[in-house]
Amino acid sequence: MAWSEKLAKYAAYLPELQKGLPVNKKYKKEIPGSDADLNAYDVIYVSGHANSGGKTIAINLPNDEQVQLEKGTRRLQLKNAMRAKYDAIMQPIAQTLIVPEQRKNVTFNAFFANTMFHEVAHGLGIKNTINDKGTVRQALKEHASALEEGKADILGLYMISQLLEKKSITEGELADYYTTFLAGIFRSVRFGASSAHGKANMVRFNYFADKNAFTRNEQGLYAVNMENMAKAVDSLSSLILTIQGNGDYEGVHKLVNDSGIIGEVLAQDLAKLEAGNVPVDIVFEQGKKVLGL
Ligand SMILES: [Zn+2]
Repeated sequence: MAWSEKLAKYAAYLPELQKGLPVNKKYKKEIPGSDADLNAYDVIYVSGHANSGGKTIAINLPNDEQVQLEKGTRRLQLKNAMRAKYDAIMQPIAQTLIVPEQRKNVTFNAFFANTMFHEVAHGLGIKNTINDKGTVRQALKEHASALEEGKADILGLYMISQLLEKKSITEGELADYYTTFLAGIFRSVRFGASSAHGKANMVRFNYFADKNAFTRNEQGLYAVNMENMAKAVDSLSSLILTIQGNGDYEGVHKLVNDSGIIGEVLAQDLAKLEAGNVPVDIVFEQGKKVLGL
């Protein structure tokens, strides 16, 4: 209940944050769905499709743009599933791939917040093109999902930096959220670069590399450059919102084809996680036996 109350407070900032998006005015005219329904839950049982592949840590439905605009969405943060992934996956990733002096910046609080604001950020931005190409989803076809996921990730970070500045978020410092975000890219990309989330992660990783938002030393350890990261978050937000608003299919096609791929150096670094037996995902221990029934 305590976490759910925090979530309600942040959702109230959506209209203001929409106005402040780092992009030309014409791409931020839509009003974000205000019936925000954002709560924290503990998972007690997962079955069927939801238990067959990657275990989800947050849910934001429905995906239908019209319903989103008219009614908003319901967002569920699955706190115990997040905690399990943080302990079993994020921490070992930090130990393996982040420079020692920034490992303290990989925190559960930031992991929870980055995931939460990803979901909230789906409500920001633009759902309909500004040039009569219909909805963004229609115009961008098979690339629509990957770009939308990329948007939610990057605008989630934008929201956090804004809310830290407004002192609405009082926990942690911006470095926590950035460093945890970088470690989170290594976590997510291990699900494969072929899914919408995977592609979005690779586009962002390669974009950040281009903008020197992080550095990699000779030991293969990564460090966030705070100043460059802040600039990269703004410019990538602007780029994605512009492509979406223009319904620029060619633009997104080029972006995904050019940078939606795992480079050789990164592949080697990811192999270290494999060698260190860092799990890709968690498995739920649940059901009658666990409950002693
Ligand atoms: Zn998403």
